[in-house]
Amino acid sequence: MTWRVNNKTFQILAAAEKGRYGVLAAIVYNVEHITAFVQAAENRRSPLILQLFPSSLEQTPSLIYAAAAAATNASVPVSVHLDHAQDFDQIRHVADSLPFDSIMVDMSHYEKEENLAKTTTLREYCHARGIVVEAETGRIEGGEDGIMGTGDLEGILTNAEDVEQFLNAGVDFLAPSVRNLHGDYGPRGPRLDMDRLRQVHQALDGRARLVLHGTNDFPPELCRACVEVGVTKFNVNKLVLDPWHQRLRENVDKPLTRLIGEGIELLTREMEKWMDVLGSSGKA
Ligand SMILES: [Zn+2]
Repeated sequence: MTWRVNNKTFQILAAAEKGRYGVLAAIVYNVEHITAFVQAAENRRSPLILQLFPSSLEQTPSLIYAAAAAATNASVPVSVHLDHAQDFDQIRHVADSLPFDSIMVDMSHYEKEENLAKTTTLREYCHARGIVVEAETGRIEGGEDGIMGTGDLEGILTNAEDVEQFLNAGVDFLAPSVRNLHGDYGPRGPRLDMDRLRQVHQALDGRARLVLHGTNDFPPELCRACVEVGVTKFNVNKLVLDPWHQRLRENVDKPLTRLIGEGIELLTREMEKWMDVLGSSGKA
């Protein structure tokens, strides 16, 4: 497995585990998002993971090349990750032909045995092409803009047996289901099972990195608590992008170049704030 030490996402998260900080893995829907996030990473001297949803590969196919070019040209470590890839054939196509450093092979919509079998096959396929793999244990409830929601499928919490089985499947990063949700948490806010999250990290025992999905509405102190129990890859979408959307809605009549410029500025500041929260600032 010596090839893995040259994989960018693997390197970024290995350093985070050693240094006990979290790295933002931020969904990008357009070039402004990429520009702002990489600018923030350079300003803060922070590592960063840029994430695309499979929907982008269909809707804006050139976005992956923009992300890959931005990552390559950045003065800090930046990798490119495909989040929630749920289609068996698409994953093989992506691994064969697109410049991703890592892929989330998400087979959580299948029952566990089939999930594990498919994950193992795809993990072997990706590894053979130098791409590291994330998987979801249990099943995280809800959906986000750009991924297939698990709809009325029941959420399933991760247990120690799951962790062992997914490690046996050879995955590099594990995203557990610990009462985290995709989408909004509602008025009561997030109610993570922190004990379970801690137990999953202990069960991993350094053999894979711990990933957290479903971070909408997270206050800074909850982010820090998650880093404390061992989360290194911190997936964000709305948590960071919401202020940008809000500004766009309020300024829709302004000239486009102004909207773009001020939007990038605002998003850069927003991202820097969360890099400080997770402790990745100054670590690149
Ligand atoms: Zn997710």
